[in-house]
Amino acid sequence: MRRPLSPETLAAQAMGDIDPVSGALAPFIHLSTNYEQLADGSYHQGRVYTRADNPTYEYAEQLLASLEGGGSRCALFASGMAAATAVFQSLLPGDHVLVARMLYWGLRKWLAEFGLTWGLDVEFIDMTDLAVVESAIRPGRTRLLWVETPANPTWAITDLAAVCKIAHAAGARVGVDNTVATPVLTRPFEFGADIVVHSATKYLNGHSDLLAGAVLTARPDPFWERIRSWRRNGGAVLGPFEAWLLQRGMRTLFLRVHRASASALTIARQLGEHRSLKAVLYPGLPAHPGHEIAARQMQGGFGGMLSIRLVGGAEEARAVLAAVQVFKRATSLGGVESLIEHRSSMEGPSSPVPDDLLRLSIGIEAPEDLLADLEAALDSASRSPVPAGLN
Ligand SMILES: *Cc1c(COP(=O)(O)O)cnc(C)c1O
Repeated sequence: MRRPLSPETLAAQAMGDIDPVSGALAPFIHLSTNYEQLADGSYHQGRVYTRADNPTYEYAEQLLASLEGGGSRCALFASGMAAATAVFQSLLPGDHVLVARMLYWGLRKWLAEFGLTWGLDVEFIDMTDLAVVESAIRPGRTRLLWVETPANPTWAITDLAAVCKIAHAAGARVGVDNTVATPVLTRPFEFGADIVVHSATKYLNGHSDLLAGAVLTARPDPFWERIRSWRRNGGAVLGPFEAWLLQRGMRTLFLRVHRASASALTIARQLGEHRSLKAVLYPGLPAHPGHEIAARQMQGGFGGMLSIRLVGGAEEARAVLAAVQVFKRATSLGGVESLIEHRSSMEGPSSPVPDDLLRLSIGIEAPEDLLADLEAALDSASRSPVPAGLN
């Protein structure tokens, strides 16, 4: 028996499959929407129509499942939101769900708008406080706990093993949005998670040129069949070209995530001293409330996401935003280029995010360029008034 290949090798070679006909190293893109039925009524590989499945998906699905480990299975979706909402829409009316209050805002908004009309009993709680989780869970009624760790945009850390233990004792599943950590740093199935979701738009693809999502399950059970059926019949599927781009992006996942994590740690440590900042929120800093759990739960780094809070409040935050030259002012995260955004104005008036906060997605540029850009922007913002138009 050969020793099993490490995840880095599987990712670099996209599972190492070679096309048996041509010998091609890069997989084929299967554009066909339909498949030939044989004279006896059967199909070549059981495939009928591409809304149900497409061979091009499988390169990315099998690779992501092997990176998340635990014998998991994966289904790609048209976006991260299509993936996350497929999980919630596979629940039944009346089901009680506990959702972390610190959460990607798009999902919080969807749950507030549609969770109720779907008949779900959605309760937002502080998932980092295990006593709160214990008292909020209702055995026999709670079907799902939804966790994001590190969580947007304070990078709050949830203890996955502890939350899974509480949930399973009460007969509930745990779904983890692993977009920010990626399987490079955290594999939630190892801590007991039942479902893992990704916005593959972010680190998995990594080049800010593709919208995609994925749901993974620890085991193929009836709930998983409902999620797959939702994709097949609801139709929130990915185009074959997008699926192909995703497998290509994932080949460099480990390099990108390790580089972004190392740079983010350097930047967070350096900025920790800056007089214009009242806080640097990064789980890699010992001062972060989730640091100890993160050190246990994340391997090889603390991720590429950090936030800063300005002493001078919203005005100074906007001035810093206006002054950067290397960072790009844009939403989203996990791309090769570094991004900065004023999160509360992005999320709108109902946002719980403090207005003195800027969210940074660290890319793979030279860290000294990023640090110099931020320091120059912080210095100029503390000296100059806010430019009109960014108010
Ligand atoms: C972006 C994001 C999503 C939504 O993904 P889309 O691909 O934009 O639909 C969900 N969760 C997290 C943590 C995200 O950052």
